Amino acid sequence: MNHLLNVQLLLLTILLQYGAVTSQVNPGVCRYPLGMSGGQIQDEDISASSQWSESTAARYGRLHFEEGDGAWCPEITVEPDNLKEFLQIDLRSLHFITLVGTQGRHAGGIGNEFAQMYKIKYSRDGSRWISWRNRQGKQVIEANRNAYDIVLKDLEPPIIARFVRFMPVTDHSMNVCMRVELYGCEWLDGLVSYNAPVGEQMKLSDQPVYLNDSVYDGAIIHSMTEGLGQLTDGVCGQDEFTKSHVYDAWSGYDYVGWNNESFPDGFVEIMFEFDRTRNFTSMKVHCNNLYSRHVKAFRQVVCFFRSDSDWEAAPLTFSPVMDEKNPSARFVTVNLANHMANAITCQFYFGDAWMLFSEITFQSDTAMYNTTLAPPKTRSPPNIQQEEDPTHKIDDSNTRILIGCLVAIIFILVAIIVIILWRQVWQKMLEKASRRMLDDELTASLSIQSEPFSYNPNPSGESSEPESNSAYEHIFPLGPDYQEPSRLISSSGTATSKSTATTVIQDGVPHYAEADIVNLQGVTGSNTYAIPAVTMDLLSGKDVAVEEFPRQLLTFKEKLGEGQFGEVHLCEAEGMQEFMNEEFLFDIPVDQPVLVAVKMLRSDANKNARNDFLKEIKIMSRLKDPNIVRLLGVCIYSNPLCMITEYMENGDLNQFLSRHEPEGQLALLSNAATVSFSNLCHMASQIASGMKYLSSLNFVHRDLATRNCLVGKKYTIKIADFGMSRNLYSGDYYRIQGRAVLPIRWMSWESILLGKFTTASDMWAFGVTLWEILNFCKEQPYSQLTDEQVIENTGEFFRDQKRQIYLPQPVLCPDSLYKIMLSCWRRNAKERPAFQEIHRALLELQP
Ligand code: AMP
Repeated sequence: MNHLLNVQLLLLTILLQYGAVTSQVNPGVCRYPLGMSGGQIQDEDISASSQWSESTAARYGRLHFEEGDGAWCPEITVEPDNLKEFLQIDLRSLHFITLVGTQGRHAGGIGNEFAQMYKIKYSRDGSRWISWRNRQGKQVIEANRNAYDIVLKDLEPPIIARFVRFMPVTDHSMNVCMRVELYGCEWLDGLVSYNAPVGEQMKLSDQPVYLNDSVYDGAIIHSMTEGLGQLTDGVCGQDEFTKSHVYDAWSGYDYVGWNNESFPDGFVEIMFEFDRTRNFTSMKVHCNNLYSRHVKAFRQVVCFFRSDSDWEAAPLTFSPVMDEKNPSARFVTVNLANHMANAITCQFYFGDAWMLFSEITFQSDTAMYNTTLAPPKTRSPPNIQQEEDPTHKIDDSNTRILIGCLVAIIFILVAIIVIILWRQVWQKMLEKASRRMLDDELTASLSIQSEPFSYNPNPSGESSEPESNSAYEHIFPLGPDYQEPSRLISSSGTATSKSTATTVIQDGVPHYAEADIVNLQGVTGSNTYAIPAVTMDLLSGKDVAVEEFPRQLLTFKEKLGEGQFGEVHLCEAEGMQEFMNEEFLFDIPVDQPVLVAVKMLRSDANKNARNDFLKEIKIMSRLKDPNIVRLLGVCIYSNPLCMITEYMENGDLNQFLSRHEPEGQLALLSNAATVSFSNLCHMASQIASGMKYLSSLNFVHRDLATRNCLVGKKYTIKIADFGMSRNLYSGDYYRIQGRAVLPIRWMSWESILLGKFTTASDMWAFGVTLWEILNFCKEQPYSQLTDEQVIENTGEFFRDQKRQIYLPQPVLCPDSLYKIMLSCWRRNAKERPAFQEIHRALLELQP
């Protein structure tokens, strides 16, 4: 929405800005593609000096098009000193052209020909051709560097032409092909040339001011003939004529000016020639009026009209009111009273020592840019249209432009409001749809509190996928609504402290808060047994599938790390083999102490942390899979509470990969430890296997990431950590109010926005984990985005308007693997693959 407003505002600013400085053609807006890519220019209007083959004829020289052999190509190689070849476009009428675009021949990867440079020639009548030059006099335009990118170049100054030729230029003998587009708008003035005395130089005490027409494209000998130039370039001069709108221009650049002393008759005569006979309503002359420097608008103008080949006897005379109060440059409008003419000669009488013009425009018959027209047939007597005197009168047509602008602005504002309202309604509809969708899928799921791990006690029920409905409020995206995970998070905090179950009856199936489901064996069919008061039951040992290990048999060796609950120690556990009673096979002799990892709850932990710790024990105690870290025992009869897990020699996967490099030259040179691609896939497939097991039990992990996977010997991987945050990677979590955290960079859009956690959202996190692995954990996901931008991006996934940003394909990652990642991030959770599928695909990727 912000973007939309910005664009609108920009549009308004442009409109207002140019409205203030330009008359009819506004070079800032006149940038429409003229029909090469859009097809409005007919094939027969595109011609060329030659063609390589029928399939590279001129008509294939359309920007964006891939038809034929993909571009226009001349018959012979273009040589540096030979400028014979050209691609010509006939626009059928005069156009104001501000921009040109070129492209080479790509032809779906087969072609590789392009023009490094080109020149432009143009003509208004098809016979006199003019070479375009930029404001510094340079003709050559730098163009393409490859066959596919479009290179756009502003034409400064713009050109007014009907025919345009692109002439490829090379610095060495080269095969060249081109596709082109012209951008601009129709030239409604119909003016094909003005003939005027050459502009003069004014000598101010501090600097010379050059008032010549520096971009005039006709002949300049004693006077200027047959050309157009600064008086028609769409740029109006400033009040202070020594300054210019054009970057790096010399003093007086925007104006053409004459000194009274050089004109004994007291006037400057300019003849205007048009493309055909037109019915003229007005002429607007943009004049400087810096009277303190003896510059004023003309005091009188006398215009003669030529229809066919005869000049009318009676001229039209107009005397504007001279203004010595306002030094602003202004348009003086002369009412041409519907004179029919194909040429007009006007004598502009000096009002002071100097007369400086920067633009002259004509309004005629249908070629009116503004809306009202005088009746064409009745010719009124020369109307003395008063000059615009900003302090006294407002010029009639300027009023019309102003009203037009205001109406346009009102329309745009109304459109903005309508769009905003429409979007809000649309969002509401989407929200409802999402809610409905969510409700549908909630048929056999639980209302779950904020623990990181959840369980659906009804695996055989209606629900197609296990789901944990987080304690977050359902927050719907868009605008400020979804920027408030603080609301979510703070509510998750309160939810954690709730000890009573929330019971939701849906489809006749009772649903309970996950925290209250203790007896997993109690799930049969649609019956769910729930036992509240987790802690009590855990301590009574009723629902813990592991036994109390004698604490005195643990010998501290070293600290392995620190997590959410407290420190993790490496310990020797005496008698562990007997304790496990062959339930778990250790790869060391029976009489030797076993190395174990002991996770301890910190002494200052509050009741919530203690409950979470016990919940993790409860969950882990039931998980038995080669790719899930195994809980061997607990010490919960006394403080500090401990969980004893198998020891994974290489720590967590994130740290492990960060210490390694991909195989290759670089690693060889730096002597770094490496991991092969096949071992990366091996590790990824083990995670997929562990997740396959979890999903088969309808468990949702909710925090899958490399930091939560442990690495043992020989690249063995086990999923661990069913707690949410840990200090080491606090940057990976989104912290709000200094308390609760969410791993938003790993979370699916629906988890963030709808608080919906499912196996499918675990699959999303798996895709991100895979991405981390392929990047050797050298970069955080979406590292270039702030947390807020990540959440905004989540909104884009929800809106699905192709504006969402996906994690990029890692350098090491083959297309097939990236496709797998992308499939994990599909918007529709149901379309994401199952872990079984992913596991299989990853096994196949290993050689
Ligand atoms: P946690 O509290 O689970 O987040 O663990 C904190 C850190 O301790 C992890 O990042 C690992 O580096 C380390 N750690 C935890 N469990 C084990 C284990 N079973 N074997 C080896 N290192 C571990």
